[in-house]
Amino acid sequence: MTLHNLGFPRIGLRRELKRALESYWSGGLDADGLLAVGRELRQRHWKIQADAGLDLLPVGDFAWYDHMLEWSATLGAVPPRFGQDAARPVALDTVFRMARGRAPTGTPAAACEMTKWFDTNYHYLVPELAPGQVFRIARSDLFDQVDEALALGYRPKPVIPGPLSWLWLGKGEAYAGAGDAAKLALLDALLPVYAQVLARLAAQGVEWVQIDEPILVLDLPPAWREAFGRVYAILATAGAPRLLLATYFGGLGDNLPTALSLPVAGLHVDLARAPEQLDPVLAGLGPDRVLSAGVIDGRNIWRTDLDARRGELAAAAARLGERLWLAPSCSLLHVPVDLSAETLLDDELKSWLSFAVQKLDELALLGRALAPGEDAGDEPQLAAALARQRAALQSRRASPRTRNAAVRARLAKDLGLPRDRAPFARRAAAQRERLKLPAFPTTTIGSFPQTAEIRALRRDWKAGTLGDHAYETAIRKEIAHCIAFQERIGIDMLVHGEAERNDMVEYFGELMAGFAFTQNGWVQSYGSRCVKPPVIFGDVSRPAPMTVGWTAYAQSLTARPVKGMLTGPVTILQWSFVRDDQPRRDTCAQIALALRDEVQDLEAAGIPAIQIDEPAFREGLPLRRADWDAYLAWAVDCFRLSTSGVGEATQIHTHMCYSQFNDIIESIAAMDADVITIETSRSRMALLEAFEDYSYPNDIGPGVYDIHSPNVPDVGWMVGLMRRAAARLPRERLWVNPDCGLKTRAWPETEASLARMVEAARQLRAQA
Ligand code: GLN
Ligand code: ZN
Repeated sequence: MTLHNLGFPRIGLRRELKRALESYWSGGLDADGLLAVGRELRQRHWKIQADAGLDLLPVGDFAWYDHMLEWSATLGAVPPRFGQDAARPVALDTVFRMARGRAPTGTPAAACEMTKWFDTNYHYLVPELAPGQVFRIARSDLFDQVDEALALGYRPKPVIPGPLSWLWLGKGEAYAGAGDAAKLALLDALLPVYAQVLARLAAQGVEWVQIDEPILVLDLPPAWREAFGRVYAILATAGAPRLLLATYFGGLGDNLPTALSLPVAGLHVDLARAPEQLDPVLAGLGPDRVLSAGVIDGRNIWRTDLDARRGELAAAAARLGERLWLAPSCSLLHVPVDLSAETLLDDELKSWLSFAVQKLDELALLGRALAPGEDAGDEPQLAAALARQRAALQSRRASPRTRNAAVRARLAKDLGLPRDRAPFARRAAAQRERLKLPAFPTTTIGSFPQTAEIRALRRDWKAGTLGDHAYETAIRKEIAHCIAFQERIGIDMLVHGEAERNDMVEYFGELMAGFAFTQNGWVQSYGSRCVKPPVIFGDVSRPAPMTVGWTAYAQSLTARPVKGMLTGPVTILQWSFVRDDQPRRDTCAQIALALRDEVQDLEAAGIPAIQIDEPAFREGLPLRRADWDAYLAWAVDCFRLSTSGVGEATQIHTHMCYSQFNDIIESIAAMDADVITIETSRSRMALLEAFEDYSYPNDIGPGVYDIHSPNVPDVGWMVGLMRRAAARLPRERLWVNPDCGLKTRAWPETEASLARMVEAARQLRAQA
């Protein structure tokens, strides 16, 4: 049985690629040094996969910054502002300038846009498209890496983005968005280059090419669906390597007939996300085609139930024989590298988990268990391995650590709690009375600069070299500094500054039961940036208040209102590895109840306003429209569960950034926060259109400056933006604030920017 992999994490167990990239960008490492690190990582990762028993190894899954960017550069799709000579190869520094705007060589230019890869937390660089664009093979990395793998004696299977997914994900001024069929006109120029790539790979001796078309799991307009037949008729011509069409992150659904009609040699389907598609796929597969069954979950970190998978695949294995291949559901880019590097997780919990390296072992084990004529009982070693796997799963199922009777009893009772607060008009009146805010009140999104000193404090405290008391004193000093600063410049609604938080999810996860943390569980987010998502393994509860002490201290320093700051239930869920033994909505409700207690404790401590951040609310939307309503219903419900336990004079804020709101505005309104702050400066308030069209009733703080840049915004520019906002929404509903938190900024620009923001608010008030 052929075993293969769709992609391996490229960043390295110790984030070697991150270190090398950052050192190269800052001038500490030269190009040869960087290339050597990349080569070393590829070799190491191929060896891991070959040693695990994989037959075909992915090539092209490695990328210096992002695989979509790498592919755009390979196709010569470099926007004109980067000054690319059409006769020369695209240099690595040009790739970096496309990603980050600058590189050790070459003229700086505006970076390409970055956005989330389907429903993952990975970000890709958006291809920039224009009518009449010319394509050519402009980089040779893919071919060089194929040679590299061949020279090491491996069987490489290049992985490339399919032309339709690449176009769908691309943008350009001439195009209306993902589904704009006008982009399909570029196929005439694009397909000959794809054909050249395939011919060149065939000449290198490649047998199989994996061509990724994940858009086949989306709702596709007819023009796109129909384009598949035309495109693949051209690509699958004689002489090209055999094509494995890969789909992942969901089921093919109504695109299944399209996928099955294509003249490709194999089809990969995601059976972790959509196990129900196995039968229909088998029914239409035909007599010659390979089915690659994506059975090991590439999106989560739990050990696989191999007995169950074996049972589901037994009939397919018997029928297809060698035509059944096994693989993870998607690229392993989305999980950490190696569980064995974790030394602090207890053995029991560890036995439940599986990272990339372990997933390949599971794959091999499943392959052996499914092999024809193999009877697990006959081969002691195999039987023992399967028994170990079974025991681990059994231990997880039976463990009292995953189920907390008190949490479950409470959930059963409190899910019936009313979610409605008093009508907004009543709340607004009570809050006006209590808070006595001016028109155009000013506030911030929560975090203030996370300075090197603050990070050093936390590091020392966690290492045990700084005592609890000393740490608390030092953080209090930061809070006092932050409050004094806000008072001095005249901010109306203050925050404590979040100095005590490493990360907005990790901070809460560490204080709640049911979460575990890894030491090396890094997952690439974009470029050299990685995140270490917490693992939610058990029922979630809050043993003690989490933010009340810091917030109450901040409030004790000032007569102005201080806004408490929490991360919302959907965002905590979305940015964690979530248990798969109960529906996500149930886990979310547990988090929501824990937060509800925190909200009520903050209220009891005299905190007049509480913000529950939900920046990940929109990214939780399912890939298929048909699934949106169910998600939105429970996501909104969990938010309301967290926030509805307070009196009408307590002001609930929420914050979302980098979202589109037009298609979910009803749900945003249903959250019924008293104030929502959003990022709007880049779009120059265009995002407010959704709120205007909906006649959004509650308060809104549209961001007036971009926090990603150290530039200090002009007063006049901010006033202008707010006037645009006031043209769309009632001015008495408007707040003045930055786009997002300030933790990545330094103090000097923060002070200058906020002082100007306060001045802008004063001018707005004067213009009554
Ligand atoms: N309160 C958080 C902060 O200010 C919100 C961050 C976010 O939206 N991602 O940092
Ligand atoms: Zn934000």
